[in-house]
Amino acid sequence: MTLPTLDTQDMLDFLAQLLNTPSPTGFTEKAIGLCEEFLSQWPELSLSRTNKGALVVKVPGVSDGPWRALTAHVDTLGAMVKDIKSNGRLKLTKLGGFAWNTVEGEGVTVFKRDGKTVRGTILLNKASSHVHGADVNKTERNDDTMEVRLDAKTTNTKETEALGINVGDFVAFDPRVEINNDFIRSRHLDDKACVASLLFALKSIKDAGLALPATTILHISNYEEVGHGASAGIPPQVTELISVDMAAVGEGQTSDEFHATLCVKDSGGPYHYGLSQRMRGLAEQHAIPYKVDIYPYYGSDGEAFWRAGGDVAVALIGPGVDASHNYERTHIEAVKATAQWCMAYMLS
Ligand SMILES: [Zn+2]
Repeated sequence: MTLPTLDTQDMLDFLAQLLNTPSPTGFTEKAIGLCEEFLSQWPELSLSRTNKGALVVKVPGVSDGPWRALTAHVDTLGAMVKDIKSNGRLKLTKLGGFAWNTVEGEGVTVFKRDGKTVRGTILLNKASSHVHGADVNKTERNDDTMEVRLDAKTTNTKETEALGINVGDFVAFDPRVEINNDFIRSRHLDDKACVASLLFALKSIKDAGLALPATTILHISNYEEVGHGASAGIPPQVTELISVDMAAVGEGQTSDEFHATLCVKDSGGPYHYGLSQRMRGLAEQHAIPYKVDIYPYYGSDGEAFWRAGGDVAVALIGPGVDASHNYERTHIEAVKATAQWCMAYMLS
C-alpha cells in the first residue's frame, strides 16, 4: 500500500503554533490543550488526561488484539525563579539539561501567579564589555553568574516582589521560530517537531478514510525533559511503544536534518531489537529516508516507561535536529519522514 499524503504546509503551521506556545516542563497546560483541541475534531477518539497532566488518546483499531502506543513530548527546557536578588534581578534554576551559554542573551517570559507575565533577558551578571572588559569572556556561566534582567523598573528585591514575581514562577525562553528554505529554526524542536509529526500522521490517515489495524494510543507526554514523562499513562493492553523524539546530529553521528533516525542505543542501553528491525523494514518498504544511529548523551520516554516497570517492546524514531538543547534546527524532509514513519507503523 502507498501511504496517505501528508499536508506538510498544515503540519508546519501547527508546528509553528505549538513552538510559539510556551511549555517548560511543569507548565505545559496550554501546549497540551492545543493538542487536545486539534484531536477533538475526531469524535471517535477518546481523549483523557493522566493525573500529572499528559494527554492520552485512544484510537480504536479494527482488531481487538494487543494495543500499540506512540509517545512524543510537549514539555521543553526552561527555568524557574530560584531567588530574587538584591539588585532586583532574578536568579534561575534550570528545568532540564542545558548549558547556560546556550540561552545567554535570550528573551524570556516570566509567568506570575496572577496569570500575567513580565518580559526580560537572560544575561551574565558581568554583561557589559565597557564595564567588565575581559571578564565578560572569562566568567564561567553557571547558576550564580546568570541572571534575568526584567523589563520593569526595579533595582532591589522589594521592587521586584511588588511586581508580583515569586520564587517558583516558571520562565520560558523565546523559541525564535523561523522557517527559511524549508529549514525550521527554533528552540524546542525537541520535541514539538515530533508532536506535530505524530498528530499529522493521524490526520493524514483520517483524511484518507483509513482505519488502524490495532487499537493505538497516542501519548502526549509532559515531563520528558526531567526523565519521567511516559512513566505513567500507557495502558496495560499496550505491548509495543514507539518513542518519537529528536535525533542527535553532530560529529560522529549518522543522523542529519534530512532523514528520520532509528536510534538503536543511547545512555539507557539498547532498544528492542525485534521492533527496531520492524521499523527499518517499514521505512524500506515505504521508501522513507532514514538513518540508524546511537546517541551518547540521551534518554527517552520509552526508557522512562521501561524503568517504571512497563513490559513492552520499545523503539525510538525521530527527525535529525542540529544543535539540540541549543538554538535548534531541522529541515522539513526530516519532519516529513518522521510523520510518514509513524503512519507506516500505525497502518502496519
Ligand atoms: Zn526530547
